[in-house]
Amino acid sequence: MGKSSELPTVTGEQVCAAVAAAGIEFIEHHDCSICGVKVGYRVIEGLPYFDSACGCTSWYSEPSLREWDTVAWWINTQESRAARVELLRRVGITDSGSSNA
Ligand SMILES: [Zn+2]
Repeated sequence: MGKSSELPTVTGEQVCAAVAAAGIEFIEHHDCSICGVKVGYRVIEGLPYFDSACGCTSWYSEPSLREWDTVAWWINTQESRAARVELLRRVGITDSGSSNA
């Protein structure tokens, strides 16, 4: 009981559903440190494709299909609560308790 400052973890299914419900088409991962372009997941037909966006890094590749579980894992493993909240917001999950039904 008492303080529930712990954020619940999310599942891939929850992320998928929230993204679909919010109509999100791009989930920002980070800005390229060189050119500043936004790197992240493109949502195509309900699936997340990681888009490295620019050729600045050596690991550039075409947008590639990932799993929602991977996106959920990325969110769940943020050590900073603020970072978790921010990532949850990006996938359409706004702060706990305020699910507008
Ligand atoms: Zn770049």
